Amino acid sequence: MNKAKKLYLETFGCQMNVSDSEKIVTLMKGIGYQQTADPVEADLVLLNTCSIRATAEQRVYGHLGKFKSMKKQKPGLIIGVGGCVAQQEGERLLKKAPFVNLVFGTHNLHLLQKMVSGAEQGKQSVATDFLDDEKRFDLFPHAESEGGVSRFVTVMQGCDNFCAYCIVPHVRGREISRSADKVVEEVAALAAAGVTEVTLLGQNVNSYGFKEPGAPDFADLLRLVAQVEGIERLRFTTSHPKDISPRLIACFAEIGKLAPHIHLPAQSGSDAVLKGMNRGYTRAQYLEKVRALRDACPGIQFTGDMIVGFPGEDEAAFEQTMELIEEVQYADLFSFIYSARPGTKAAEFPDEVKRAEKQARLERLQAAQKKITLARNESFVGGVQQVLVEGPSSTGDALFGRTGGNRATVMDGDPALAGRLVEVRITEGLQTLLKGEILDV
Ligand code: SAM
Ligand code: SF4
Repeated sequence: MNKAKKLYLETFGCQMNVSDSEKIVTLMKGIGYQQTADPVEADLVLLNTCSIRATAEQRVYGHLGKFKSMKKQKPGLIIGVGGCVAQQEGERLLKKAPFVNLVFGTHNLHLLQKMVSGAEQGKQSVATDFLDDEKRFDLFPHAESEGGVSRFVTVMQGCDNFCAYCIVPHVRGREISRSADKVVEEVAALAAAGVTEVTLLGQNVNSYGFKEPGAPDFADLLRLVAQVEGIERLRFTTSHPKDISPRLIACFAEIGKLAPHIHLPAQSGSDAVLKGMNRGYTRAQYLEKVRALRDACPGIQFTGDMIVGFPGEDEAAFEQTMELIEEVQYADLFSFIYSARPGTKAAEFPDEVKRAEKQARLERLQAAQKKITLARNESFVGGVQQVLVEGPSSTGDALFGRTGGNRATVMDGDPALAGRLVEVRITEGLQTLLKGEILDV
């Protein structure tokens, strides 16, 4: 019998790439490749890449260098690059890294089996064409592997927003929404496999269904998914603030299973910067959405993304970002130094903020947020939270779960509770997690 061929797959970047990687594993199984965690064993190395910031892209080239050396020892090793860097670079990638066998873009997973089989015969190939929407629907990654407690379900792909700094619309193409029937079908299959929490995923889930008048919108979709038997908790990410509708806000008051958490990236607290970013809302409009969400769901937790050092961000504009995080009181914030991406609108803007200044602003922002996060975590002490138990904690001697507000929580308990919602009294609020004790089972 032939020894199974081995696939080593590395995934960079966002949850979208993680979903695509699930599909890649299934496709490669179909042509005889078993996944391995050890690159040394690999016959096929695939990198599913991210180009959101220059550092992410450089990391990919760094990794390729490592596999180039491996290929010297093992000349038959097939190396493939997919995802956003592949989409952006195409043929250029082969010029920079001629030892790579295949380059597959974000719309080309359907060609991957053929490309790998071709590489087994010594053929080098590149596929980065964008597909018609019709064909793209067949390529939606769906949650392939079985079970688990909490899973992501892709409901839309691509983005039409063209935020001035962002490469996503350029490398992932236009927005398409999957049919509500397909989403519900997939969630039901996951629930049947024991999954109790799903997170509906898209670059901007709020514009789900916008392109099909009369079709369910995102608020409708949430209501449909909440009805699936076995699903105890529902989340979604990411939300563009401009597209949060009153109907969606009402869902937080009306759908019991909808977790009281929203990831709502502001990107900046300054109107001038928001305008330059083409975000489509002002600081006041953002804060108004925050207020409406808090009215609908008093305990709701906010997380967000912020960019510092965008072209035109002066000290006063940055101060407005600092004030915004104090006002919103985010439970957590992901903050980044602006990175000019080729082909985006902002890449043409004069980038007058000095590197050292960007770094200093990032550090100030992160230090302020660290205090806010700790204070928020401490504020839970003494209260009771509903925690979905995901399994053993990283140390193995306790259970790990998440509150509705998405706070990581550890507590003692029976590992058989995995997948159950339990009431937990919070006893400690630390920087990155809560500690608590289970009240009832
Ligand atoms: N679609 C989502 C949204 O609009 O919030 C997420 C997009 S992206 C995968 C995640 C975050 O990366 C963005 O919210 C933004 O803060 C950051 N980001 C995107 N482009 C960037 C750039 N050129 N430089 C720095 N950060 C960037
Ligand atoms: Fe990028 Fe803006 Fe689209 Fe998010 S909404 S993916 S930041 S263009």
